[in-house]
Amino acid sequence: MKKKTVSFSKKSVNVFFHILTRCNLRCRHCYINPKAHGKKTLPINVIEEWLSALLKKKQSANVIFLGGEPTLHPELPRAVKKARSLGYKSITIDTNGYLFNEILKKVSPMELDFVSFSMDGATKQTNDGIRGQGSFDACLKGIRQAVSIGFNTSLIFTVSSTNIHELAMMPPLLEDLGIDRFFIQVIGLRGNSAGSTNNKTNPANIQVSKKRWLDLIPEVARNAAGRGIITTYPKVYLRPEERFECAGLVADNYFIFPNGRVYRCPLCEDFPIHSLMFEDNRLKSTSGINEEDLFRLNIPEGCVMNRLIQPENLEYTAEGKPKHKIACCLLKEEVY
Ligand code: SF4
Ligand code: SF4
Repeated sequence: MKKKTVSFSKKSVNVFFHILTRCNLRCRHCYINPKAHGKKTLPINVIEEWLSALLKKKQSANVIFLGGEPTLHPELPRAVKKARSLGYKSITIDTNGYLFNEILKKVSPMELDFVSFSMDGATKQTNDGIRGQGSFDACLKGIRQAVSIGFNTSLIFTVSSTNIHELAMMPPLLEDLGIDRFFIQVIGLRGNSAGSTNNKTNPANIQVSKKRWLDLIPEVARNAAGRGIITTYPKVYLRPEERFECAGLVADNYFIFPNGRVYRCPLCEDFPIHSLMFEDNRLKSTSGINEEDLFRLNIPEGCVMNRLIQPENLEYTAEGKPKHKIACCLLKEEVY
C-alpha cells in the first residue's frame, strides 16, 4: 500500500461547475448559499460556452458537474457530451444518488469517467438525519444501478462530529457496493454549516478535533485502500517543518456558479470576493479587493481563509505561536 500527498499543479485545470443550485434535498451541511450563488439554472448553450472558455489550449482539464443536484438539469447529458468532444480529460458528475432524468441511460461509461455519490453515514439513521429521509436508500439504489451498468463510481463522505462514529463502517460497505474511489471530506463552515439557514447546530460543535481526525482518518483510509479502493482525504494539519502552499497561487482551479461568479478557492464561496466572473460568456477578472489579495498574505497559521472563517481548529502555544499550520483545504493525501 502506498500513500502520497497530491501536489498542486498549474498544468492541469480543474473545473468545478455548478450548473444549477436547485436540489431535492436539504442537507444540514449544504454549502450552497443562494444569496451568494443565485438560484439560476444555466441554459445549455451557456454551459457549453463556459466549458469552451475554460479549456485552455494544450492544457489538460478535468470537469466535475455539480449543483445543487446536477441531474435535475435535463440537459446534463448534452453538457457531458460537449465536455467530451471538447477534449476534457476526465468528466465527473457529483450526485446525491437520486439520478434524475434517467441520466445513466443517456450517457455511457465511455463518455463519463466517474459518477460520484454523496453519503454521510453508514446507516440509514445517521445518513438520513443529516441528508434527509429516504436519501440513504436512494443513494444505495443509485450506486447499484451505476455499478451494474459499468460506470466508475466514487463516494464522498463529509466527516463531522455527527457521523464520525460511522466512518470506520464505510470501507466494507463500499467494497460490497463495488465503489472504486473513496473521498473523505472534512466539514467546512460554509452555507448551512456556517449557521446561515436551516442548521440548528452550533457550527463550532460539528467540526472534529485534531486528535480525533488524526487518530481515525488515516486508519480508515488504509482500511479502504487495503480493499482496493483508492482513498483520498484532506491533509488539514501541517507539521511546523512542512511547506504551506495556497492552491489559489500554485494550482489552476475554477469554482463556477450559475450567477457567473468564479472563485479560485472554495472557502471564499460565501463571500462576494470572487476573482473572476463570466460576463457575456467571457471570463473576466473582477476589479477591487478579492480573494487573490488574501492568497498572498503570509501568516504563521497557514491558510488565511481558515484563520478568518474557522479559527476553532487553531491552537497556540503560551507564547502565542500556532502549534500547527492549517494546510490548504485542497491539499489531499491519497492512499492506494
Ligand atoms: S449538500 Fe448537495 S445534495 Fe445536499 S442539499 Fe446541498 S446540494 Fe443538495
Ligand atoms: S483554502 Fe486557503 S490555502 Fe487553499 S486556496 Fe483557499 S485561501 Fe488558499
